[in-house]
Amino acid sequence: MKADIVVIGGGASGLAAAMAAKETAANARVLIAEKLPRTGKKLIATGNGKCNLSNMSLGKRNFHGSIDAMSIIGRTPDWHELFTEKLGVACVTGSEGREGGVYPRSNSSTTVLNALRLKLLALGADELCECEITEIKPSNGGFTLIYSGGEIICRKVIIAAGGYAAPSFGTDGGMLRILREMGIKTEKICPAVAPLRVSPERLKGLKGVRIKGEIAAFSGGRELRREKGEIQFNENNVSGICVFNLAYLFQQYEGRLTLRADLAPDMTSAELSAYFRRLRDDRRGFTAEELLSGFFVKNLTVWLIRNVLEKSPSEPIESINDKDIEHLCKGIKSLELEVTGCSPWQNAQSTMGGISADQVTEALESVRYSGMYFCGEILDVAGDCGGYNLQWAWSSGTWAGKKAALSLKGGKNGKGR
Ligand SMILES: Cc1cc2nc3c(=O)[nH]c(=O)nc-3n(C[C@H](O)[C@H](O)[C@H](O)COP(=O)(O)OP(=O)(O)OC[C@H]3O[C@@H](n4cnc5c(N)ncnc54)[C@H](O)[C@@H]3O)c2cc1C
Repeated sequence: MKADIVVIGGGASGLAAAMAAKETAANARVLIAEKLPRTGKKLIATGNGKCNLSNMSLGKRNFHGSIDAMSIIGRTPDWHELFTEKLGVACVTGSEGREGGVYPRSNSSTTVLNALRLKLLALGADELCECEITEIKPSNGGFTLIYSGGEIICRKVIIAAGGYAAPSFGTDGGMLRILREMGIKTEKICPAVAPLRVSPERLKGLKGVRIKGEIAAFSGGRELRREKGEIQFNENNVSGICVFNLAYLFQQYEGRLTLRADLAPDMTSAELSAYFRRLRDDRRGFTAEELLSGFFVKNLTVWLIRNVLEKSPSEPIESINDKDIEHLCKGIKSLELEVTGCSPWQNAQSTMGGISADQVTEALESVRYSGMYFCGEILDVAGDCGGYNLQWAWSSGTWAGKKAALSLKGGKNGKGR
């Protein structure tokens, strides 16, 4: 089988790359080689099936890793131009209570995938599913791609095979292993947009508690990042979007991370302390547990009395003195949780790490293998939760697709849009 450009991986970035390649070089044969029986399986699952496809507010702060994602995002069509104008997907912003998030108006990710498929069909891009590329051999100025059904010979290859996150969607890091064997350098990887593990002993009794708060990540005593939102306590990890957005730091700080949660960010310590002192005096004759019962859910109340005050919840409330209240307020404002690890890949939505900036040109072409391009999560870019990872997939796919197609024509990987 022969093609001018083969896109390995039919996920978000691969579909965008194939589209841009066909738009740039209409007569080129562009083939998407996808390992799974259908393209876009992960896309269907995004945003709980609703597909948070971009964000109204995109900035350097939202992208992590060695590659400057914003420099490519800034030179490719934004969500409105791509989805509303080009693909005919009507979008809304800020639904799902997610400020800034862009979603299809239909509230269904299948709308997005269908629109991409229709466009690719109209442009004449081909796809070959159940085709897992297991080897890439540079040959005769192009590449020979090996899969179980034989080989595909192509002039250019765009690798859009994703990272390690959510392996049930075809992304188990296999392609990164192939590329490493070919001498392509990758940054250390870890799950991003994922829960963070905390010892089950520390979380005992907190499972199921959800609270609106503020959470900050520290390493070596230095605050790295602070996020607001709902914090969820589970058996052996903490989650919630605010925690997801701190997960990438685990790789950057080599596992030395501590979380500090503020469970009452809307009140100062002095306000909290005055509130609890008044309550203690009002509730004389009751148990210690009743000090917090109007403020937090029962499991959290009991946990704080036991773990911060080191008292039994059934002790008389009078046993709590002013010093205890100060200590309790400190615990509520600054609950420390040592991170013991990342969550397994199946619980992660993205990959921190991947092909590093020094391995690619400005066109996202390999510095080692001319004619080999990369896009999406396989590159060392991890976006925050909120549409940032898909925006990176669309932009990097569009960029790599266009550059690969331009190079077919013998054109330069020129700058600009
Ligand atoms: C449950 C879930 C929800 C998410 N929700 C959101 C969201 O709402 N908003 C957001 O911005 N991001 C979200 N993300 C993250 C986002 O989906 C990914 O970052 C994005 O899809 C990455 O696109 P990609 O094209 O790089 O890789 P993928 O979409 O992972 O696609 C890679 C494709 O390559 C194929 N492949 C792999 N190896 C081979 C091979 N050797 N040969 C052939 N094919 C191969 C895979 O089967 C797969 O189809 C979510 C992720 C998950 C798991």
